[in-house]
Amino acid sequence: MQTAPGVAPASRLPASGTTIFSVMSALAREHGAVNLGQGFPDYPIDPALIDLVTAAMKAGHNQYPLMPGVMALREAIAAKVERLYGRAYDPESEVTVTSGATQAIFTAIQALVGPGDEAIVFEPAYDSYVPAIRLAGATPVTVPLAFPGYRVDWAAVRRAVTPRTRLILVNTPNNPGTSVLSAGDCAELEAVTRATPIVVVSDEVYEHMVFDGRRHESLARRPELASRSVVIGSFGKTFHATGWKVGCALAPRAITEEIRRVHQFTVFAVSSPMQHALAAFLAEPSRYEGLPAFFQKKRDLLREALAGTPLELLPCEGAYFQLARYSRVSDEPAAAFAERLVREVGVATIPLSAFHQDGTDHRVIRFCFAKKEETLLAAAERLRRLAAG
Ligand code: PMP
Ligand code: GLN
Repeated sequence: MQTAPGVAPASRLPASGTTIFSVMSALAREHGAVNLGQGFPDYPIDPALIDLVTAAMKAGHNQYPLMPGVMALREAIAAKVERLYGRAYDPESEVTVTSGATQAIFTAIQALVGPGDEAIVFEPAYDSYVPAIRLAGATPVTVPLAFPGYRVDWAAVRRAVTPRTRLILVNTPNNPGTSVLSAGDCAELEAVTRATPIVVVSDEVYEHMVFDGRRHESLARRPELASRSVVIGSFGKTFHATGWKVGCALAPRAITEEIRRVHQFTVFAVSSPMQHALAAFLAEPSRYEGLPAFFQKKRDLLREALAGTPLELLPCEGAYFQLARYSRVSDEPAAAFAERLVREVGVATIPLSAFHQDGTDHRVIRFCFAKKEETLLAAAERLRRLAAG
């Protein structure tokens, strides 16, 4: 059969290949590797959550919900944020339910910046930030996080701010850096943005994964910052259900109006039964209060298990990732090393170089520890063999 020659459109994102998460998960499947790459749990979600979805479907919640989100869920989100961080967002005009944090980030960026605007991003950066800025027609301005602690260098931020800066994207706890913003960092951010038109997009999807007694410094805690910020959450991360793709964006009314203008033409609305289930589940603080201890135990187990390998572990303040340098094993670039680990050792990780636009490579790899104990131990066992070899 003859096929017509296809059309090859000019790429809107010529610098982007397939995301590193898809690439490493595919490699892991191909080689039967233990997958500590892509950030998703390998243990089941709470059965109560599954029952709540079934109940919501049986109760007839199967048609379009309200465009900004099911009101019960918006109310539950606002109540939780007020309880934890002290700011009362109005569910009617300041809370929007999104299809995961990814859509919240993308939609906020499309709504808030355009050609001629600059948006500051810290690198290493979660991989969706820069492409979303580019698609909006704005210019990404990257500021490196200081290695090896991956902390913000505020002098560098001040140098990067220009009269064209319209947006600063922060991520705490940080993926992939695993650092968290301190109260001092938030005060610096306040000072940098004061008397400017800058909006802050604060990706807080790992808000419940903060360790060693630290507290999560949500921008919602600080009235001055909250008045210019979009605070973003993810139920996929919080309730171990990354496949549900439900998140939220909280912002003052005028910012929310702009976000919803774009949201209504991006997804219009988010899965109705999932929202009803989450509303009921979220109402009980016990559903998330134990999360820091739950993940800290996994972090410590992995750190202990990797202590018998030549990998050099970096500190982990938050998020569910453990970073490691491998200079005692190899001087390969991180992407090549990570690929070899999958093929030869049977463990999938993520090379941190994938989170840099400019080729920076600190020779660091990332392990996800949101996994069953046996999965973490199996990975460590394989990595010990690498040492012996
Ligand atoms: N931001 C960061 C920092 C992430 O690690 C992720 C990955 N979960 C997301 C956003 C996207 O979250 P979601 O799966 O809810 O779209
Ligand atoms: N957020 C997850 C991570 O950092 C992956 C998200 C994705 O696969 N797009 O691993």
